[in-house]
Amino acid sequence: MKLFSFLNKKNDKPAYKCSCCGQVYDSLPLCFGSDYPIYYHSVPEEERTERIELKESLCVVDGKHFFHRGQLTIPIIDYHEDLIFNVWTSISPDNFSKRMDLWENPSRINEEPYFGWLQTIIPTYGETLNLKMIAIEQKIGTIPKIKSIEEGHRLTIDQENGITYKRALEIVDEVTRQQHKVS
Ligand SMILES: [Zn+2]
Repeated sequence: MKLFSFLNKKNDKPAYKCSCCGQVYDSLPLCFGSDYPIYYHSVPEEERTERIELKESLCVVDGKHFFHRGQLTIPIIDYHEDLIFNVWTSISPDNFSKRMDLWENPSRINEEPYFGWLQTIIPTYGETLNLKMIAIEQKIGTIPKIKSIEEGHRLTIDQENGITYKRALEIVDEVTRQQHKVS
């Protein structure tokens, strides 16, 4: 695997070239997201309209499986930006109803974090489906912060300790490769 990062002379921001197809980005892509929780794909395509309620930050399947979207950050210790994944986690029916009640209420930041199981694959972290997560509500207009609490898992360790820029590049490279493969 060849990694490629160079300084863009125009703005001094590192540009980035995908190692699979050569696509060039003006600056290093550090924010990634998935549009659906994995569970979404278990519903046959022709039944999705009927069985799934999908909005930007929530997804309900059959009125009883609840998911919400949050932001999982991995700090990059030797760079001024962090690596960010917009991910989905499950949320219990009780917490989902609380989340909805408090959606426009600034005091929601005082709530206990919501427990959930990760519903997004994070490349280079092995099997990330159903890792233990907590969702910490933020100020109105911002999706919750997602923190891995899966004991001993690399994702938990990296979120706590941060990663190097070199390691971030490896992750970015793998994510872009996978994205370009499917599209
Ligand atoms: Zn590519």
